[in-house]
Amino acid sequence: MNNAKRNVLAVISGPSGVGKGTVIKRMFLLDPSLKESVSCTTRAPREGEKDGQDYFFISKPRFEEMISRGELLEYSSHFENYYGTPRAFVEEALRTSDVILEIDVDGALNVKRAYPSAVLIMVLPPDMAELERRLRARGTESDEKVALRISRAAYELSKRDEYDYCVVNEEVDRAAERILEIIRKEKEVLK
Ligand code: 5GP
Repeated sequence: MNNAKRNVLAVISGPSGVGKGTVIKRMFLLDPSLKESVSCTTRAPREGEKDGQDYFFISKPRFEEMISRGELLEYSSHFENYYGTPRAFVEEALRTSDVILEIDVDGALNVKRAYPSAVLIMVLPPDMAELERRLRARGTESDEKVALRISRAAYELSKRDEYDYCVVNEEVDRAAERILEIIRKEKEVLK
């Protein structure tokens, strides 16, 4: 990763339903030079999700093969599925661009251990009640799954002090601009 010294590896986490996907999409509109890693997962695609775009949807045996070959920069499992970041893509992309990883807190903390210069950014909801409303409004999952996601959200939020920055997603444009500002600032530090 030596060649990558001046590019920022920004790791963005936040509880499911906080709107981080929307914020990240806005960041790419504002700065098309950014690259986003596409993670691998063993979970089934949700309606509208595309293989190779939202995730690489792969089988459990294939995922376990990637783990044993060291092809993942980090991985974690929740809701009985694996999620992981392909190492080669990130290392290659960092040679030319700032790279965004959208991953959970466990993965983010593992990335920070491997690459201390990674910048951890947590997107926060304006409040928990609002988050719950957003999770229910998604309407693609059973009550049981929604409850699981809410307890997972509380766990993710409990790790906020281990992050370099927290950004409240009150308004998408402002949150996206704030994260881009953080990346620009961190780029100066790496110079
Ligand atoms: P979802 O199933 O809602 O797409 O994602 C569930 C969780 O997995 C989210 O918290 C998301 O950030 C996390 N996630 C997505 N990709 C990765 C990854 O590559 N590694 C890890 N550790 N978590 C991921």
